[in-house]
Amino acid sequence: MSGPSEQSLREGLLRIARQLVACGLNRGTSGNCSARHSEPDGFLITPSGIPVDDMSPESIVRMDFSGKVAGAGKPSSEWRFHRDILHQRAEVGAVIHVHSTFATALACLRRDLPPFHYMIAVAGGDSIRCAPYALFGTQELSDLALAALEGRKACLLANHGLITLGADLDDAMAIAVEVEALCEQYLIATRAGEPALLSAGQMSAVFRQFKDYGRQATLRSEAQATVRSKAQATVRSEAQTTVRSEAQATRQSE
Ligand SMILES: [Zn+2]
Repeated sequence: MSGPSEQSLREGLLRIARQLVACGLNRGTSGNCSARHSEPDGFLITPSGIPVDDMSPESIVRMDFSGKVAGAGKPSSEWRFHRDILHQRAEVGAVIHVHSTFATALACLRRDLPPFHYMIAVAGGDSIRCAPYALFGTQELSDLALAALEGRKACLLANHGLITLGADLDDAMAIAVEVEALCEQYLIATRAGEPALLSAGQMSAVFRQFKDYGRQATLRSEAQATVRSKAQATVRSEAQTTVRSEAQATRQSE
C-alpha cells in the first residue's frame, strides 16, 4: 500500500509539532509525534531534545520496526511506544504524545476517564483508560500503554501524560484536542460534585449516532478551528506584549 511521500510526512509532522505548541497542548520538548511510512516499512518520528522552533523537515527521524534509525538523527526517547503502536495496530497511521495540562493532571490521579460526557466516544469506547506508571522511554511503558489502548484511540499514562492515535496526523490531533477538553471538563465537574455517568445503552446510542453523522469529519474540522483560534490568541497576546514592551522602551528613552 503506497501512502503519502516521505517528504510530505516530514512536513506534516513538523506542522503538527508546531500546532501542538501553538494550541498549548505541548511545551518545550516534552511532546512527540510519529507517522507510518510504508515504503520501506517503518515510521517517521520527531527528534529528541530539539525545540519545535529549531526543527526542520530534515530533523524528523526515520526508523524501521526493529527500532533501527535509517539515516541520521536521534529519535524521541519515546520511540518504543510509537513503534509498537504503529507495528501492532494496522489501522493507525499516526501517534501523538503530549504532557498537556488537564490530561496529565488526571493521569496524576491515576484515574480512567469514565463516560461522564458523550464525546468520550471519540476515543472509541465508553472510557479512556489510564495505564499504570512506568519509567519514560522503557519497553515496560510501551507494553502498559498498548494494553490501555486496546480498542481505543487514546489513553492516559499515569504520572506522565496522554497518547492519541489516528488514521493520520490530523485525526490524532483532533482526538488530542478533544480528550484534553474532556479531561478539563471532568476535573471541573468533579470539583463541584460527582458527575452523573452515561449508561452502556446511552453510549451505544452515541456510537450509532456518530456513525450516522460522520462524526469524525465534524470533529476534525472543529479541532482545526480550535487550533487556529488558539494559535491566533497566542499571536495576539505576543503582539500585546510587544506593544507593551515597546511602549515601555519609548517611555524609558523619553
Ligand atoms: Zn512523555
